[in-house]
Amino acid sequence: MAAPGENMRVNADRLWDSLMEMAKIGPGVAGGNNRQTLTDADAEGRKLFKRWCEAGGMTLSVDKMGTMFATRPGTDPDALPVYIGSHLDTQPTGGKYDGVLGVLSGLEVIRSMNDLGIRTKHPVVVTNWTNEEGARFAPAMLASGVFAGAIDLEYAYSRKDPDGKTFGDELKRIGWVGEEEVGARKMHAYFEYHIEQGPILEAENKQIGVVTHCQGLWWLEFTLTGREAHTGSTPMNMRVNAGLAMARIVEMVQTVAMENQPGCVGGVGQMFFSPNSRNVLPGKVVFTVDIRSPDQAKLDGMRARIEAEAAEICEALGVGCSVEAVGHFDPVTFDPTLVSAVRKAAEDLGYSHMNIISGAGHDACWAAKVAPATMIMCPCVGGLSHNEAEDISKEWASAGADVLLRAVVETAGIAE
Ligand SMILES: [Zn+2]
Repeated sequence: MAAPGENMRVNADRLWDSLMEMAKIGPGVAGGNNRQTLTDADAEGRKLFKRWCEAGGMTLSVDKMGTMFATRPGTDPDALPVYIGSHLDTQPTGGKYDGVLGVLSGLEVIRSMNDLGIRTKHPVVVTNWTNEEGARFAPAMLASGVFAGAIDLEYAYSRKDPDGKTFGDELKRIGWVGEEEVGARKMHAYFEYHIEQGPILEAENKQIGVVTHCQGLWWLEFTLTGREAHTGSTPMNMRVNAGLAMARIVEMVQTVAMENQPGCVGGVGQMFFSPNSRNVLPGKVVFTVDIRSPDQAKLDGMRARIEAEAAEICEALGVGCSVEAVGHFDPVTFDPTLVSAVRKAAEDLGYSHMNIISGAGHDACWAAKVAPATMIMCPCVGGLSHNEAEDISKEWASAGADVLLRAVVETAGIAE
């Protein structure tokens, strides 16, 4: 076959029909989906995906985390596979496209290569990672985290849902414990196609997001200790007000984030006052600062400055201050060669595109620890996600899948 031509596009209708077919499994209460990981609905979705993969001539393998790997062989027996992955599990009130678009576009890439008679040197593997969402079993991106060696398998098995059922028992119950050692397979490259889950592409009127980075984050849990006292009878100069210290720290976090533009964000989403009574100055305040940046130096710089300035703020007010890092991801820089392949594919297809940074975590962020990886994004209406009203158009869906097809074929190499 000659170099990829204009005819190398996916079948938009077939991709859309598959999305709609999968969405019938685990319907939500408001038009979206509730197909949480390791539920009966998840098992049913997996069965349908398996059937589609086998009909497409792929061979399925499952690892001990229940992650599904469907392989289309390449012509070179020594070549490592090119992976296309995402997730079929959803939030309890999730949309039809978050994750699902990536997995079913991977399937559509294979179906299209079959239609077009394209054979590649490297095998191509479509992957459905278990428990990306983390809604039922925390943390999110659990199976890809184990795959990347960042999370221990036994720890993953021990994770409990709100009913006290463990991940390990539920994986067994739905019949998807595989034989394969987690992380044993090696990757030539990893692609993930996902809805943006933010408003930028739609606002900029771009069809394709060329994802260059994944934000890193720190969650810093502050515990401030003041002195509980009557709000009416305690003079201002005799207060040890942990609430006031918190307010100043919240304002300072805003300043630090604003001074690290563009690209950095910071804020406080959770705070607990104790005793939380309207006429008692709080003796204890616990709150979490969430800071994110695609740049490691900026991220760590923000953390250091926030901790130092918080200590000063507290000292001036006589308030005790301790900080614990309760969550962390390093920023990810996606592989420049794969990023270029995505951009070139968008250009060759005549799709409008822009560079974008993933604000949310994805399995690709863990895959990037063990292989060259990147992502492709398409817009979603109003930037809405993790919501049953999440919406995309058929044209948006297929444009990204076209880009995926081209970038994967380019990376896997057309067989001579
Ligand atoms: Zn997702």
